Amino acid sequence: MVSSSTTENLVVIGSGPAGYTAALYAARANLAPLLITGFQEGGIPGGQLMTTTHVENFPGFPQGILGPELMDRMKAQAVRWGTRLLDADADQLDLSQRPFTIQAQGQTQRTHAVILATGARANRLHLPQEERFWSRGISACAVCDGATPQFRHEPLAVVGGGDSACEEAHALTKYGSHVHLVVRRHKLRASKAMADRVLANDQITIHWEHEVVALQGDDWLAAVELRHHLDGSTTTLPVRGLFYAIGHTPNTGLVQGQLPLDGEGYLVPQQPGQPDTVIPGVFWAGDVADRRWRQAVTAAATGCQAALAAEAWLTEQNLAVTVSRKTPEPESAPTPQKMSPATEETYSPTALWQQGSYALRRLYHESMEPLVVMYTAPGCGPCHVLKPQLRRVVEELAPQIHAVEINIEAEPHIAQQAGVSGTPTIQVFHDKELRCQWRGVKQRRMIRTELEKVLSPDHQQR
Ligand SMILES: Cc1cc2nc3c(=O)[nH]c(=O)nc-3n(C[C@H](O)[C@H](O)[C@H](O)COP(=O)(O)OP(=O)(O)OC[C@H]3O[C@@H](n4cnc5c(N)ncnc54)[C@H](O)[C@@H]3O)c2cc1C
Repeated sequence: MVSSSTTENLVVIGSGPAGYTAALYAARANLAPLLITGFQEGGIPGGQLMTTTHVENFPGFPQGILGPELMDRMKAQAVRWGTRLLDADADQLDLSQRPFTIQAQGQTQRTHAVILATGARANRLHLPQEERFWSRGISACAVCDGATPQFRHEPLAVVGGGDSACEEAHALTKYGSHVHLVVRRHKLRASKAMADRVLANDQITIHWEHEVVALQGDDWLAAVELRHHLDGSTTTLPVRGLFYAIGHTPNTGLVQGQLPLDGEGYLVPQQPGQPDTVIPGVFWAGDVADRRWRQAVTAAATGCQAALAAEAWLTEQNLAVTVSRKTPEPESAPTPQKMSPATEETYSPTALWQQGSYALRRLYHESMEPLVVMYTAPGCGPCHVLKPQLRRVVEELAPQIHAVEINIEAEPHIAQQAGVSGTPTIQVFHDKELRCQWRGVKQRRMIRTELEKVLSPDHQQR
């Protein structure tokens, strides 16, 4: 393990709305926080909102905003004020002595204070084709996604039998033409009042002792297949929306045995509603300790509380080493650059990163160098995570490599020809041969290893 020689003021673990807000406040207090973004353990950088499309209820965006874009903005704001990011999972956290220690990416970080903002993940059924229909009919949040135009006046289904499932089924009757509640048992686990409300609602049909076993549709969910628990018979239920309400799993593995957790694994605050935990210097923010509200705005609010509490604690303990700023106002956050697909006029054979099928065709046929093709889609959160990492590696390996980005929504025929079934997908070609491909996010060093393999003389001679 490599050990960092300095002791941080504050490490924030997790990069959802809670983590970025905590980091923003701490950075503005000149604490130069280190934020460990998370990578695979418990979600991708940016957290749960990276897996959704439109966020309509975060204040300040009257037209709504795409989840990944909102998280890009939160990240940019936290970084602008001096947050340092470590794109890795925190693998271990030792709270038994101070300074606390965190193992991440083979390094030991020491810190006086910690904010745990590792979130919670909605449980999934892990059905075949679930990834394909995720955010294209399937959602884990009726409060967030229920009003989506695709669900309006359409039949919808909710899976689950507890309070959340009943609440969601009831709420969805506002939007859908009819709501089907799929319950595994012969009765509801929900509170009596909630159960009665659902049972009395003629816009809700309950499918007792059934489970969802398959999904159907093209670019959006069209039907689900239900199986009866007892006799095994199956029925097809046409629905445009399927909402999971089968619980959440908080990401508290790091503090198990060190901090009190409730029966479902949520962190228990020292006092309800306060950002402190039972260990001084350790604070919580967001869904990790919130079994009830689980919204982006509540996560951000508790991130703010945790950072202010951490700042006060560090000051009281005389531990804070603040950084001084050269100018009171930091530089502006970089504005995301909008690229257009290359055309005959704009195409360049030497450009490192271009867009669209014109550039793809030209480079595929004419370039002597390996060609990286990244297939993306506008609402794809993991694409937002992967792209800057991939871009940086391509820049590091320049001029031996080129990259082209294909928006599969704009150019579906290209994705079809390439056999791409989801985003992000990466394909690397050399001499018109596919040399490697993968789907999903990867850390920068892993991307570099993959691309270096293709660039190695052995590989090139194949
Ligand atoms: C599909 C979907 C749609 C939603 N839509 C809305 C909506 O429209 N409006 C709304 O208000 N809310 C919505 N929500 C809920 C909202 O996303 C959450 O309430 C919010 O993201 C919680 O923020 P958080 O920062 O606490 O945790 P998260 O967003 O879960 O972020 C947790 C972070 O911790 C990181 N992490 C986990 N383990 C580790 C580790 N060991 N080391 C380092 N990092 C780690 C993860 O990588 C992640 O970055 C939605 C949720 C889902 C799933």
